[in-house]
Amino acid sequence: MREEDCIFCKIANGEIPSRTLYEDDDFRVILDLNPVTKGHALILPKDHYRNLYEIDDSTAAKVLPLARKMAVTMTEKLGCDGFNVFQNNNEIAGQTVFHFHMHLVPRYDDDSQSFVMPPCGMTEEQLDAVRDAIVG
Ligand code: AMP
Ligand code: ZN
Repeated sequence: MREEDCIFCKIANGEIPSRTLYEDDDFRVILDLNPVTKGHALILPKDHYRNLYEIDDSTAAKVLPLARKMAVTMTEKLGCDGFNVFQNNNEIAGQTVFHFHMHLVPRYDDDSQSFVMPPCGMTEEQLDAVRDAIVG
């Protein structure tokens, strides 16, 4: 399903040109327009899902194998030293385009980037309470 006025629907389905790295029936992988490192790419499903809360299981199940395949290829071709794979859900988590996408970020020893969220500080008791809240 497509959504009107969704830029990633248009890109994923080829209506807006992009620097495509890979395409199949379900996905297009493109270079990010404002990369954080050389090779920063995005996996876009061709169907519209707002984010992880909405993506269906069968599409979701294909995302990680594709991320792995892209990471292997890009590491070979770009000679990067590591890789971050992540995706953001809702504004608070940094989502700015509301069509599910997974970021593929090659990392280089000298890229001067960081990927750090400092610990928020929780006691053992607080951790127990969080576990209970989730599984209870
Ligand atoms: P997020 O903040 O997780 O929603 O990520 C959105 C990403 O999409 C950012 O890294 C943007 O640089 C990227 N982006 C936005 N518009 C385009 C576009 N037209 N083509 C390629 N990448 C885009
Ligand atoms: Zn969309």
